[in-house]
Amino acid sequence: MSSIDIFTSGTNLLITLVALFILSLSMWYGSQDIKIGKGIRYLFIGLALEFIGSWFGYSMNDYVMLGISINVLAFLELFILLLSMMFLALSASQLLVSSIPDTPIIGAITALGLVAIIYFCLVAQDGVMVSYMRQIFPLTGFAYISTSFWSQSGHRHKTGFLIGGFLTTAVTALLICKILGIKPELITSLWYISAFVYAGLAVAVLMIKIDVMSKKLEDKDTEIGKYNKRIEEIIKSSPFPIVISRLSDDRLILANTNAIKLFGIQASELERYRLKDFFADSENRRLLNERLEQEKEVQDFEILVKTSTGSTPFWLLASANIIDYNYDIALYAAFQDITSRKNRETLLKNQAIRDPLTSLYNRRYFEEEVTKRIALSRMKGGCYSVLMIDADKFKNVNDTYGHKVGDKVLIELSSTAERALRDCDIVARYGGEEFVCYLSDVGPEKAKIVADRLRETISKIVIYSDEGKPFGFTVSIGISSSEISDSIDILIKTADEALYRAKENGRNRCELFTKADLAKFHDNALHKDESNQLHPVFEKEDTEEISLLDGIGANHIIENNTNIEEQKNEKPAPKEASYPTLGLDEEDKK
Ligand code: GH3
Ligand code: MG
Ligand code: MG
Repeated sequence: MSSIDIFTSGTNLLITLVALFILSLSMWYGSQDIKIGKGIRYLFIGLALEFIGSWFGYSMNDYVMLGISINVLAFLELFILLLSMMFLALSASQLLVSSIPDTPIIGAITALGLVAIIYFCLVAQDGVMVSYMRQIFPLTGFAYISTSFWSQSGHRHKTGFLIGGFLTTAVTALLICKILGIKPELITSLWYISAFVYAGLAVAVLMIKIDVMSKKLEDKDTEIGKYNKRIEEIIKSSPFPIVISRLSDDRLILANTNAIKLFGIQASELERYRLKDFFADSENRRLLNERLEQEKEVQDFEILVKTSTGSTPFWLLASANIIDYNYDIALYAAFQDITSRKNRETLLKNQAIRDPLTSLYNRRYFEEEVTKRIALSRMKGGCYSVLMIDADKFKNVNDTYGHKVGDKVLIELSSTAERALRDCDIVARYGGEEFVCYLSDVGPEKAKIVADRLRETISKIVIYSDEGKPFGFTVSIGISSSEISDSIDILIKTADEALYRAKENGRNRCELFTKADLAKFHDNALHKDESNQLHPVFEKEDTEEISLLDGIGANHIIENNTNIEEQKNEKPAPKEASYPTLGLDEEDKK
């Protein structure tokens, strides 16, 4: 398509070369990252060869002067133009829909063209045919490429292809006119057509790139839309409650009907809720987040939740994933209500550690828990006490009012003791009408005050018989403390011993097992062989524990008076806790 006028003027040539350079840049950029990039690159090679071919044709006289055969030069010119045609055709087949002849056909046509130029240039040396082919090759190339551009015009994004189509069709038309000899002088004088077409194609390629990218984005949008729709359908039809929340602000973006019901959400105002609003335990939430950060997916995680109105917390089993949803990074969480399972678990656990009549802890739990507490208290240098409570003449209650009323007395006694003591203390049913209490950070003197207050409170309880007759009852309390031992067994035995004394001394009273008592028992134990009679505190003991009291390997019992004096000097005085529940007055606290 290049006019001779391009090469006769330096300015024209420069302008055309600049346009070609712009085209090269545009084609280089336009061909990146898109599927038809190869087609665009071929198009540039085709156009550049066509330009070189024309330039070569124009400069041929100079080479003839150098003594090169005109036939060889004509062959070379036509060969370059043939290659140009081949690349334009290849470009067309890459850019285009499949109806355009593909690579083998292009190869065959090129081979045919090659045979033709060899024959007409070198064998037949037919000048008419040579000048005919000089025009027919570019024409065929442009016809190909314009067809390819037009074939894309059915697309939604087609601006670039249309520009390319118009330009290449115009060039094809001009080349046809040239072959047919229609206004040849006009056509040859339009030197700037090449520059114009190159610049136009540069714009077309950039537009094609934009079109392709827009289409890509649109396809991606459609894909995301479809994906979201599929997720929504799956979620909505799920028998489990499922929610999706945005990770950036924790707001809900999707909740299925089951989740809406479960959490008491208003479906129309989803974004008002944050997922963390439903967590009854913030630590729970923190742990879940931590696991999600590490693993991106969490299965069967137990969480304690509440509804939007802050109902009683209930347990859910959650499975959570981090997903892409609606252009957001989101948390997908599916739940299963496990409240009944959790309740069953709690029930079973309680059955194992609680007494069914009074709901107090049982003896086994008390002993295990107190052993741990004593170890902790020892580490901190604290003190503690144990109370052994026994209902006075309880047999009489049963005999007078019946066993059922007796049970009622035990229940009342239990709840009164629990209410009277602090949360950090432990109250347990030791067996029958006997109860034990562990008082944290309470030494013997204060324990005595606490026990007296408790005894007094219990003595004020009024119970009604089946006939509606009111009556009261009393308890006796034995006290032992950290002064005596750090073994739960010995603490209970010594408290029991003190209780025995309280009963002996007339009941409805409290007795403290003191260090002096311990020394006395120590002596008794030493003389047990002579008297052949055990002190009551040892009656239930096995030999090992007796030997402990004898001072043989005595880890538990704080030794006799002398040792106690030594220890007093060594150890700081244990810290005592304040005891508000029973309303000790200031003097007591001191
Ligand atoms: P003491 O002042 O010496 O302790 O006299 P007591 O009658 O309380 O002592 P004793 O050990 O002789 O009697 C305890 C009674 O407690 C006997 C038993 O029937 C009753 N008892 C034990 N467990 C229960 C229970 O769960 N419910 C009822 N109603 N009575 C119980
Ligand atoms: Mg008893
Ligand atoms: Mg009793």
